[in-house]
Amino acid sequence: MNIANLLQRTARTYPDLPALAHGQDITATYHQFDEESAALAGVLRNDMGLQAGDRVALIMKNHPEYWIALFAIWRAGLVAVPVNAKLHINEFRYILENSDSRLCFATAELGDQLQPLIDELPDLERVLCIQEQGYQNLKLGPALPLQSVRPDDLAWLFYTSGTTGKPKGAMISHRNLLVATLSYFADITSLSPGDAVIHAAPQTHGSGLYGLPLVAKAGIQVTPVSGGFDPAETLDLIAHFPNSCFFFAPTMVHRLIASPAFASADTSNLKLIVYGGGPMYEADIRQAIEAIGPKFAQIYGQGEAPMTITGLSSSLIENDTHPRRSEILASVGTERTDVEVQIFDQDDNPLPTGEIGEIVVRGDVVMLGYWKNQEATDETLRGGWLHTGDMGCFDEEGFLTLKDRSKDMIISGGTNIYPREIEEALLTYPLVEEVSVIGRPHSDWGEEVVAFVVCANAAQIEPRDLDSHCIQHIARFKRPKEYFFVKDLPKNNYGKVLKTELRERLKIKN
Ligand code: AMP
Repeated sequence: MNIANLLQRTARTYPDLPALAHGQDITATYHQFDEESAALAGVLRNDMGLQAGDRVALIMKNHPEYWIALFAIWRAGLVAVPVNAKLHINEFRYILENSDSRLCFATAELGDQLQPLIDELPDLERVLCIQEQGYQNLKLGPALPLQSVRPDDLAWLFYTSGTTGKPKGAMISHRNLLVATLSYFADITSLSPGDAVIHAAPQTHGSGLYGLPLVAKAGIQVTPVSGGFDPAETLDLIAHFPNSCFFFAPTMVHRLIASPAFASADTSNLKLIVYGGGPMYEADIRQAIEAIGPKFAQIYGQGEAPMTITGLSSSLIENDTHPRRSEILASVGTERTDVEVQIFDQDDNPLPTGEIGEIVVRGDVVMLGYWKNQEATDETLRGGWLHTGDMGCFDEEGFLTLKDRSKDMIISGGTNIYPREIEEALLTYPLVEEVSVIGRPHSDWGEEVVAFVVCANAAQIEPRDLDSHCIQHIARFKRPKEYFFVKDLPKNNYGKVLKTELRERLKIKN
């Protein structure tokens, strides 16, 4: 099934329901959304001469037009290449070139930066700015019929966020997207006409993926006018749209609650915040539940298995009578309905319950491979399993606890130390706002543990106080040998801490 069929079907049944909103303003009903994307699809294939399977990039700040362009691309049997609008021009160039994109949709401010690339990149024929004169006319012509695709045809090139090295294009098929959508209904929540997803996080990533179940059920995609995450604006939108849902990086949950506007905000319309994409520490989720109520679910996934490896349902998060609540809140939940998840050792042998190894996944949501990178495909999908590069272990009840990415694990005196455990412990110290733990090369031990700490309200913390706090909570040998107090932690455009950059800083210090 062409994934664009989700829209065609909903538009037939619910033509007059609101589909797209810019801030509080409804910009399209389902009939308009479908009609405009079908006309735009016709322009792409007939006027611009794009052929089935050609790549079309979307370098746009969050905007309702993103949805019309995205569904036009799929309807026309083309491949979408959504790119995070916060990337550097060199990264745009790399992704446009690597994907051989022939066309790029852009929002105004980015379009100007991107235009010169047409002369540099042989495949790029046009940068189409959604604010340019005449753009709206492209959505008025005759509808292109929904193009047939095979389940394994490519729908989305999902460029990895690349905390190290160049981003790779995970090849996501129509089948992968459909399975991710069905799995949302199976494991995360049900949706009804009129429910809203507020895209405060980038539409090119998890938030955008959660737009698909919403289209299937005639909900409203709400794009904040700021195009991103502004806590006060987000809270206003929650007050306006009943049953609003979100995909948030964990840091956004924290920022929402800490914002001055939160104290007087009415969050009763909030239905669900799905968080994921990075570690949510136990102390933070407990604080969030206290502030907002039990309106959270967690997912663990990656671009290579779009947002669908494990999940922690809102009912499990709510259950404060479970004897192992702490472990459950600190876990990433249980295997999602549509996948098998195992823990492998270095030789790809399955490990027993409780042992830590690499998390591997197989199922219909797993990508086809990496675009134009057979070597990385063979390595990552060896034996038919997606090797996530994340370390973790299952408990007896099937809860997966993520340790760290294999490259972030610290080996000190031959013992494996997982930074996350130390980070969790440090975060329970009242004045610690954020923390990141890494290994520093050491001549005797191989590596030793050091911590970068951000203090709340510019407070001063004595290293010896952190030291005794650690001794109370974790094994003595795991406590950091040095603390670096910093104003903030380096993060990429998805809010993930760049441990590679912290390691570089240590090299400079030495
Ligand atoms: P991306 O492909 O950019 O979404 O990055 C995926 C990576 O983010 C995963 O491989 C994990 O390392 C991390 N990640 C995703 N979800 C979670 C989660 N719930 N908790 C901790 N880390 C996560």
